Amino acid sequence: MASQTVVTTTDTVDLGPAAGLSCRECGERFALGPIFACEICFGPLEVAYDFPSGDPEGLRKQIENGPENIWRYAPLLPVPADVAGKPNLNPGWTKLVQADNLARELGVETGKLYVKDDSGNPTHSFKDRVVAQAIEAARAFGFTTLSCSSTGNLAGAVGAAAARAGFRSCVFIPHDLEQGKVVMAAVYGGELVGIEGNYDDVNRFCSELIGDPAGEGWGFVNVNLRPYYGEGSKTLAYEICEQLGWRIPDQIVIPIASGSQLTKIDKGLQELIKLGLVEDRPYKIFGAQAEGCSPVSVAFKAGHDVVRPQKPDTIAKSLAIGNPADGPYVLDICRRTGGAVEDVTDEQIVDAIKLLARTEGIFTETAGGTTLGVAKKLIEAGAIDPSLTTVVINTGDGLKTLDAVAPTAGMSAVIRPNLDSFREAGLA
Ligand SMILES: *Cc1c(COP(=O)(O)O)cnc(C)c1O
Ligand SMILES: [Zn+2]
Repeated sequence: MASQTVVTTTDTVDLGPAAGLSCRECGERFALGPIFACEICFGPLEVAYDFPSGDPEGLRKQIENGPENIWRYAPLLPVPADVAGKPNLNPGWTKLVQADNLARELGVETGKLYVKDDSGNPTHSFKDRVVAQAIEAARAFGFTTLSCSSTGNLAGAVGAAAARAGFRSCVFIPHDLEQGKVVMAAVYGGELVGIEGNYDDVNRFCSELIGDPAGEGWGFVNVNLRPYYGEGSKTLAYEICEQLGWRIPDQIVIPIASGSQLTKIDKGLQELIKLGLVEDRPYKIFGAQAEGCSPVSVAFKAGHDVVRPQKPDTIAKSLAIGNPADGPYVLDICRRTGGAVEDVTDEQIVDAIKLLARTEGIFTETAGGTTLGVAKKLIEAGAIDPSLTTVVINTGDGLKTLDAVAPTAGMSAVIRPNLDSFREAGLA
């Protein structure tokens, strides 16, 4: 592990119920700090908790009376108890849309298909959830600059959250991202650096920067703050269950980039069960990738435990991570729950974007097109049961990836401003 100049002790760190970090591989415990890999086995670290126990009714009431954002779940997150009063973007509590029109089109029973629409977050992607956790850790550890390696959405989420919370920000992206993502990341006034390379190159560069004096005092939300960052995705699981009346859905379809979101949604569901907030019932988790970046899907279908890295080539740029850090854990979860990992072509992604827009009035980005495209494919293949409750997660907003649909979503006609011209166009 590279040495960190920010020195903290557990005594001075108040991250609510977070009690320490534990290694996913060997279980070794560490004090809360800006570390992300086990000193013994190099396994990834995750946040371990001392949760309140014994009073699920009381906890449920406390949550239900909380603010309409992720801080209603503060007792289950690595944040101080007074987090809701701090300057932040208050993401979360996005809509769970009952998608009956889409269900009809896909042959799913009425009332059984839902879209969790996370495009409704402050910077229009689910990344606001994870950044909100990482920022509290950054505050606790005394960082003054926020950074990240990003496939696009994260850069915008960090820029916005840093602006609001009074941090300096300097974020890194592949130089060839969509204009919507670039502008969205730059507009908040922080530094935005394009790297000549793909996301995996950007990520490698950031790891080097952390070990260098040039990166001193920098909190990389998805690198040295990754254990805290990841916990933000648990709030998707919490919200989905609460919005379904404190019930775990039978099937959830989740996009995979690094795989963090998928693994933490599973962690969130397990916590709700342990705390007695939901009934312990079986659920299946399905992972979605684009064919042009499908390392986890390929491993799943081949029955492999090892995820072999790929060089991404897909329009789903927010999912274009060729060497996903949490890939093996995604495989474990999808296999353990009886789910699957599947991929779709760029053409199927565009079709799915338009299908969701046409049926439910939701304009998703290419990541959402990937997730819905995979859901459709798995319903058709019989892997997703159309008689059971299914939640498809829409993680981002179509306004950031206009190029994907622009060639096939234009004006029906251009006419002169008179009725004859309108009739001639055949639209009356
Ligand atoms: C980052 C991102 C994901 C998935 O991220 P993970 O690294 O797998 O947690 C999904 N959708 C969108 C739009 C994203 O920006
Ligand atoms: Zn370990």
